[in-house]
Amino acid sequence: MSVDAQRFDVAIVGGGLVGLTLAAALGQDGFRVAIVEAGEPVTDWPQDSIDLRVYAITRVSQQLFTQLGAWEAMQSRAGPFRDMHVWDAGGSGEIHFDSAEVGEPCLGHIIESRVIETALLDVIATLPGVSRFCPARVQDFADAGDAQQVLLEDGRTLSAGLLVGADGRNSRVRDYASIHAMVSDYGQQALVAVVATEKPHQQTAWQRFLPTGPLAFLPLFDGRSSIVWSATSDKAQRLLQLDDEAFCATLSQAFDHRLGAVLACGERVLFPLHRQHAQQYVAPRIALVGDAAHVIHPLAGQGVNLGLSDVRELAAVLHAAREQQRDIGAFAVLRRYERARKGENLAMMTAMDAFKHLFGSRVAPLRWARNLGLNLVDAAPPVKHQIMRAAMGIQYP
Ligand SMILES: Cc1cc2nc3c(=O)[nH]c(=O)nc-3n(C[C@H](O)[C@H](O)[C@H](O)COP(=O)(O)OP(=O)(O)OC[C@H]3O[C@@H](n4cnc5c(N)ncnc54)[C@H](O)[C@@H]3O)c2cc1C
Repeated sequence: MSVDAQRFDVAIVGGGLVGLTLAAALGQDGFRVAIVEAGEPVTDWPQDSIDLRVYAITRVSQQLFTQLGAWEAMQSRAGPFRDMHVWDAGGSGEIHFDSAEVGEPCLGHIIESRVIETALLDVIATLPGVSRFCPARVQDFADAGDAQQVLLEDGRTLSAGLLVGADGRNSRVRDYASIHAMVSDYGQQALVAVVATEKPHQQTAWQRFLPTGPLAFLPLFDGRSSIVWSATSDKAQRLLQLDDEAFCATLSQAFDHRLGAVLACGERVLFPLHRQHAQQYVAPRIALVGDAAHVIHPLAGQGVNLGLSDVRELAAVLHAAREQQRDIGAFAVLRRYERARKGENLAMMTAMDAFKHLFGSRVAPLRWARNLGLNLVDAAPPVKHQIMRAAMGIQYP
């Protein structure tokens, strides 16, 4: 590979939300960073339109954005949710989470993907140590011993002591590192859309568990709601094909008319749902973050938040290694990151799977148990508060 490679401390492949956040964190810490992204960023859009991709951002992820100086730019389009209602279509089980019960102003915020992306790009633009290669695609990688090299399709070559794969579910970096990922298809697709409802959303995140999958209404900053309706692939296809009027009527009914009638619905898009977990997160001079390492069911809105926790941990490990004058690409250094993150990510994936199976079951004893369970948890503040803290991303020793 080229001897004229541009040299960096860290080369990040993938400029989605996780890769951009890592670039901002490392750039602010004085590392020389290259970030390679295939797609053009969307930085200009009609302000009255809503991005179909929205995320429930936990309080802990908000703290990270605040530390990086990106939160302020997102705030005007961040819809806080102070309450969460979860209930079962197959019985009387219901649970209500209220942020005031744990002394927090809210449980999290619903924010559009492009709003977060723009805020992070604005931060990165102020960091002289971060170089963006965008749009640019990776053609190949090579191991140069003391560095990993990245050859771009336009002929440029980058070289770095650490190569990070933030390149999503079909990670090329993961393949290059020969890291196997365990994949299972949930047999479900998530239908997402922005809807207007008869009653206000009351700054509440609503989730109803239907036998075919969970249906969530997430409160947007402008009074509308973003829906994520996970359903079997056949059902999701049928929902996609309904005309707007029939879809709004079906949605209102599926949602138990909790917010009255659904009055209008924007574009509908389907996302196939998979579970995926890389067997290792690291190899010599290579680390995986975000969906390149783990993909989970969106029912608790945790995917990107787990990726942001990867960022926080990897940035801390690299900072400590540099303080101790250790090689940031050394396997022993990177293993510290893997040890810190893999268990937590696996626990969250397992919990999501358990929820999905429990609430997808039509077996009578399981239905009774889950309804009883929801009502018992609702009546047991200590357990409930623990769940709320976990949902906010707040860790307790
Ligand atoms: C329906 C749905 C709803 C969700 N809701 C939530 C939610 O409410 N909250 C939450 O936390 N999570 C949610 N998630 C999960 C979330 O979408 C993902 O966890 C998150 O997008 C992962 O971010 P990432 O940056 O790791 O990967 P990605 O978003 O996949 O970004 C990877 C980037 O790498 C780039 N790339 C890939 N290959 C290359 C290459 N070879 N060269 C250059 N660039 C490359 C791609 O262009 C892309 O920009 C949801 C997911 C779904 C499907």
